[in-house]
Amino acid sequence: MEKTYIFGHKNPDTDSITSSLVMENLERKSGNTEAKAYRLGKINKETGYVLKQLNVQAPEMLEEIPEKAKVILVDHNSFAQSIQGIENTEILKVIDHHAISNFETKAPLFYIAEPVGCTATILYELYEMNRIEIEPIIAGLMLSAIISDTLLFKSPTCTPKDKEVAEKLAKIAKIDIQSYGMEMLKAGTDLSDYTAEELINIDSKETEANGIKMQIAQVNTASIEDVLKEKANIEKAIKDFMDKNGIELFVFAITDIINSNSQIITLGRTDIVEKAFNVKLQDNMAFLPGVVSRKKQLIPPIKENA
Ligand code: MG
Ligand code: MG
Ligand code: MG
Repeated sequence: MEKTYIFGHKNPDTDSITSSLVMENLERKSGNTEAKAYRLGKINKETGYVLKQLNVQAPEMLEEIPEKAKVILVDHNSFAQSIQGIENTEILKVIDHHAISNFETKAPLFYIAEPVGCTATILYELYEMNRIEIEPIIAGLMLSAIISDTLLFKSPTCTPKDKEVAEKLAKIAKIDIQSYGMEMLKAGTDLSDYTAEELINIDSKETEANGIKMQIAQVNTASIEDVLKEKANIEKAIKDFMDKNGIELFVFAITDIINSNSQIITLGRTDIVEKAFNVKLQDNMAFLPGVVSRKKQLIPPIKENA
């Protein structure tokens, strides 16, 4: 049997890391003994907390992918968010909950996309469909991904199915969703020892609309003010990143997960942002009340106005 590489997007979040590990488990239990989970970047603090609590090893870092390698993508489909050379691999499967864009294959594949809050919710259904039992640690990994992606069910991306699946997983994992979830999210808001350059890369995604290359980055915090102390350095890091990567619009969202609002710092084609959110920027910034989801509340209006 040939090796199968499983991975989520670059600048991985908890869903990308845990869904790779869970998919490895599901593949192996389904007979694909050569399935192996990888990651395309550093483990963030929230994910670090999850892996430590569940006593699970982080997947190995994947630096490059061999041509024609067999691949399973989780939590993304866009080639811009995947590993370099992805277009030369053989993508066997995609399990994802994002809009399909910048994606194309030569051969037929198994593609499951659902408009739910988290990849783990879809993976849960695959275990059910294949009648494979979910072990407590695997349940803990999936539950953590749902908590992360839905901000403990508070994000507008959260669906009733995510919540229902999370409750079933919590029973299997014997985890109290609220207390564990709060601790987990809190671990992710500790931004104290990141440099500005690291901050804008913790959770950053490239996308494109109307031929305009843009980068939308996000951090979770309990205090927007605290993050803004670094504003000058953040702006410098954004400028450097844009120059280096040919990005025309950069949006950095500082998301207050306690009050569910975001402050954005934006550079480049900011006319798009002003139109998208009907705001006038001040010092390259705008406050977006009620905005927490990049996927549902940031990317669509920005793309529409590009
Ligand atoms: Mg993700
Ligand atoms: Mg996800
Ligand atoms: Mg996310």
